[in-house]
Amino acid sequence: MGRFDHPRSGILADNIVSYSVDALPPVDDPGLVRTALTDGIDAWERANPGLVFAESDDPEVVIRWELEPGPTWIGQADCDYITAIISCELTISVGGTSCSGTYEQADLGALTNTIMHEIGHVLDIGHTSDESHLMHGDDPPPSDPLDVMGFNVPDALESQLDRNEAIRAVLDANLTKFEIELAGLDRELEGLNLELEELNREFDRIEGLKGSLGYPNAHDLELEEDIRRYNIRNDDYNTRNDAYNLRSEDYNRRIEIYNQQADELDVLVERSNAYTTDPCYHERAG
Ligand SMILES: [Zn+2]
Repeated sequence: MGRFDHPRSGILADNIVSYSVDALPPVDDPGLVRTALTDGIDAWERANPGLVFAESDDPEVVIRWELEPGPTWIGQADCDYITAIISCELTISVGGTSCSGTYEQADLGALTNTIMHEIGHVLDIGHTSDESHLMHGDDPPPSDPLDVMGFNVPDALESQLDRNEAIRAVLDANLTKFEIELAGLDRELEGLNLELEELNREFDRIEGLKGSLGYPNAHDLELEEDIRRYNIRNDDYNTRNDAYNLRSEDYNRRIEIYNQQADELDVLVERSNAYTTDPCYHERAG
């Protein structure tokens, strides 16, 4: 296997990045953290045939874990590059406390992305402003196009955060449809109510005429025709009113499901936000 062509800093003396891993912090699912580390390393090795990460007692890279993100980071790489020797300390947070105060472990996709991103820094790769890129970041400021230092940067994995955004997009589209549907139902109800008022006026008029004509003893062809027409219109109104009520109930059932899904998404977002440097984290961190 040939050496990597690394013209800028020549950080790799060989194809091997030696590393050690500190003890895991007390999380509910330590296996997830180990999987994230393995997956992150595998992704770099797969994308760069010949590049090997090897555990060592005398490592170039020390990986440390934190339960919580720092005030401005969820992972950080503190590296010195002496000619052909890397000396890095990676600090990776494995979760965070949500705004409601519960500790949430980072999901596999998010944690793997953090580890892969910091490995990118180990290889002396900086930040890009492309939000979908593994090496997206603000501090140090991005420089576009990104200099990948001769490496192939693996794709970022889908995390719960990405899935939340996809769910949000679907819910937002549904909400727009609900708003249009509700406006239609409101217009229909308004029409039905106007029609009912008119029917009620006609009913009162007919009842008044019945009284003054001594109905039903007397016959009045015109009144009987009015009663016949009233009954037809009233039946028609009732049919459409029943149909409206069915659609309205169906709408209410669906909006209830929508509201449940929106509530569930809020919970997912809060959990995911525990693993970002979100505002309430900063407040807690002081
Ligand atoms: Zn970074």
